[in-house]
Amino acid sequence: MAPRWLQDFRDGTADQADLLGGKGANLAEMTRMGLPVPPGFTVTTDACRAYMAGDGALPHGLVAELDEAVVRLEDTRGKQFGDASDPLLVSVRSGARFSMPGMMDTVLDLGLNHETVKGLAEASGDAHLAYDSWRRFVEMFAKVVLDVDAAIMDDVRSTHLEWAGVADPSELDTDAAHDLVVAYRSAVEGAIGRHFPDDPREQLQAAVAAVFRSWNGRRARDYRRMEGIPDDLGTAVNVQSMVFGNLGDDSGTGVVFTRDPATGEATPYGDFLLAAQGEDVVAGIRNSEPFGALADHFPDCHAELLDVLDRLEERYHDMCDVEFTVEQGRLWVLQTRVGKRSAPAAVRIAVELVDEGLLEPAEAVARVQPTQLERLLHPGFDAEAAFDVLTTGLGASPGAASGHVAFTADEAEARAADGESVILVRPETSPEDLHGLISAVGVLTSRGGLVSHAAVVARGIGTPAVCGADELVIDLDAQRMSVNGTVVEDGDLVSIDGTTGEVVLGEVPVVVPEPTPELARLLDWADDLRRLGVRANADTPEDARRARAFGAEGIGLCRTEHMFLGDRLPIVQRMILEDGDGHWAALDELHDLQRADFEAMLEAMDGLPVTVRLLDPPLHEFLPDLTELRIAEATDGLDDAGQEVLAATEHWDEHNPMLGIRGVRLSALEPGLYRMQVRALMEAAMARVAAGGTPRPHVMIPLTVSGPELAAAVAEAWDVIEEVVDGTELDVRVGTMVETPRAALRAAELAPHADFCSFGTNDLTQMTFGFSRDDVEARLMPVYLQRGLLPADPFATIDVDGVGRLVELAIEEGRAAAPDLEFGVCGEHGGDPASVAFFDRAGLDYVSCSPFRLPVARLAAAHAALAAGDAATVPAISREA
Ligand code: ADP
Ligand code: MG
Ligand code: MG
Repeated sequence: MAPRWLQDFRDGTADQADLLGGKGANLAEMTRMGLPVPPGFTVTTDACRAYMAGDGALPHGLVAELDEAVVRLEDTRGKQFGDASDPLLVSVRSGARFSMPGMMDTVLDLGLNHETVKGLAEASGDAHLAYDSWRRFVEMFAKVVLDVDAAIMDDVRSTHLEWAGVADPSELDTDAAHDLVVAYRSAVEGAIGRHFPDDPREQLQAAVAAVFRSWNGRRARDYRRMEGIPDDLGTAVNVQSMVFGNLGDDSGTGVVFTRDPATGEATPYGDFLLAAQGEDVVAGIRNSEPFGALADHFPDCHAELLDVLDRLEERYHDMCDVEFTVEQGRLWVLQTRVGKRSAPAAVRIAVELVDEGLLEPAEAVARVQPTQLERLLHPGFDAEAAFDVLTTGLGASPGAASGHVAFTADEAEARAADGESVILVRPETSPEDLHGLISAVGVLTSRGGLVSHAAVVARGIGTPAVCGADELVIDLDAQRMSVNGTVVEDGDLVSIDGTTGEVVLGEVPVVVPEPTPELARLLDWADDLRRLGVRANADTPEDARRARAFGAEGIGLCRTEHMFLGDRLPIVQRMILEDGDGHWAALDELHDLQRADFEAMLEAMDGLPVTVRLLDPPLHEFLPDLTELRIAEATDGLDDAGQEVLAATEHWDEHNPMLGIRGVRLSALEPGLYRMQVRALMEAAMARVAAGGTPRPHVMIPLTVSGPELAAAVAEAWDVIEEVVDGTELDVRVGTMVETPRAALRAAELAPHADFCSFGTNDLTQMTFGFSRDDVEARLMPVYLQRGLLPADPFATIDVDGVGRLVELAIEEGRAAAPDLEFGVCGEHGGDPASVAFFDRAGLDYVSCSPFRLPVARLAAAHAALAAGDAATVPAISREA
């Protein structure tokens, strides 16, 4: 009868990860493939769940099954548990469905005691190895299985090291190692009040129970909560017969990736350490050699391992990461899993696996996460540059920057105003520091996590940030900080990389990554899969050209207010201030300038839609600050012109401009304005036609809330369009933005007047929540996120439950009223992968986002389509171990 609570490696497969954990499932799969895996068995997650439900004893029947499994292992290996001449030893390794911190550390060489250690010494011909292994086992077992206070063990160890005059216990000679074991054991016995378990069966049972208990350890639980991993999955336990990489110079151990995890290059990449075991490689006790050195030491094992790597990739259809050991010239494979990789490597590997016939294009697309691309396209430290990392914190807001340290927001603002690049350094930031955050090129904090004030605000304004760099000791009074002995003074130059979290003293060259040919191919495949259109938010011809290169299918939002600033501001002010001829003359001037702007935009996007939003912001934004004007009047007095400006500014001053006279409301009070903009756009289109182009001008009216309001604005627009176009065949459309709850609720009322509706999700979020973004993002959002009062920042990821409901409702009712009505979204959510997934489900026609997020949106749209249609058949394999 098959055992109830455990399974031999040779009886399992890779798709049993739920039952065997990632590590166990992959050990089983490799065994099934005939790879040289030291034999063993996996105690299932089922047993763990039964243990957790019980009273602290191993589930009924498990002890007997362990005994039987050990007998099978003894038969396979020809060694006996507890044998005094050539003992069977095992490792006990935790391994859940998802790898997580806080689980029990692996116990090696379980089965050692004062009898078997002699057997190991004899069988290996290496007494030092035997006693050193025993010493490590007792240390490990006491700590992780018996829960003995580390300080007790540390005390004993340091005393013995002092006596022997060595720095590391591995340097103790055989007798001294033995003495240390004896001392450890009596310390342990004092601490636990019973004998140190010497019976290998008892050791094994205790270790299995300890792995089960570690599932509910504090760190493991916290991690699961953070990652949304259910608490009731449980962990498996892998019991595997030991192999020794430390049996002299014909042995060794290493780790190898089937491809380079940094670049994705298709050559094995890893480390190898001669005469070493297990964690020695990671611990960096001695300098390891590059993987290739294996060929010099053990050409046969090297060739065999290369074959193993090929077979793993063929089986897993992915880059794998492998732990291996050479024991006296014989190769053993101890673990594999799908390897972690950098973002560039993820793209390259996915594409090359398609070329190698191991993946379908759709699978390759599914392999790369949109958030990875986000990282890929942000500026980062130049990988070619040489620099020493001072410390590393959390990569809290992507991008890299170099600047001079300032320890207060005022200082940062003042120095930035003088043209200096400033990195604002604070223990943590608060809303009072907002002006400093805005002026700085980068932000560095020693405290706080990814939802701290600094992190949230920096992401909101797109400034690179490293947060929670807790090795930094910041002395605000002395205006300096120190890190591990290095002192950084006010004004010193530092660099931060908000993706990797690295902090460097001095300047590090920053590179803006170029899309690689591999990325272009991956995105082409994504384009074939996606349903959702992807357009760009672009206000200038340069942005439009860049957007087109990044794959934009048109412009979803061209904001015209940017065309009203700079040297054009005086003309705009004349338009606002003057009546009669002066007013119209100013409008004419603006018209000529706008026509040239639009012509360039239409040219850059020839053949694709260019959606021009008519002027949206309140007019006072183009006038001087009212308070300053009043102060000037009260102190020096104002001349006539000044008085006129003051009067206009007072006239346009509003208590709450965000809810005031802006968007379509403006056109009711400034009748010539929208007509001028539409005329400029249409004349630009006609000029493009004359030049042989295919312009597709779409006029977008902002902030509409009612049918009659939209109808009036649309009629005015068509009036001008028809006059200018005069019968020419053109793809001209007039539509509106949906930015208020009323517009969404009354989409059916707007629909008959519009060719398209575009959700302005920034404003829609502000108005749905009643959150003024600028105020709330700095002051309230970090608190809300930290306390879990909101699941995510709704300005970064669409609030599906609230704002999303309005979107769905508007689409449903709008389309019921006008079936051909086109729906898009413009706003930062258009480049956020989670939001894009929602927009696809909601049935939008396109999203529009900033040019550098276009690749993210294209990939996210493809992922959404795959999720909707289950088009990608990714093999059921365990990516964790
Ligand atoms: P981790 O998750 O930290 O990699 P592992 O369970 O893989 O933990 O093991 C820790 C180290 O011990 C690894 O280097 C592994 O290769 C080694 N190890 C585990 N089991 C054995 C074994 N049966 N024989 C030799 N080395 C082993
Ligand atoms: Mg570990
Ligand atoms: Mg491992």
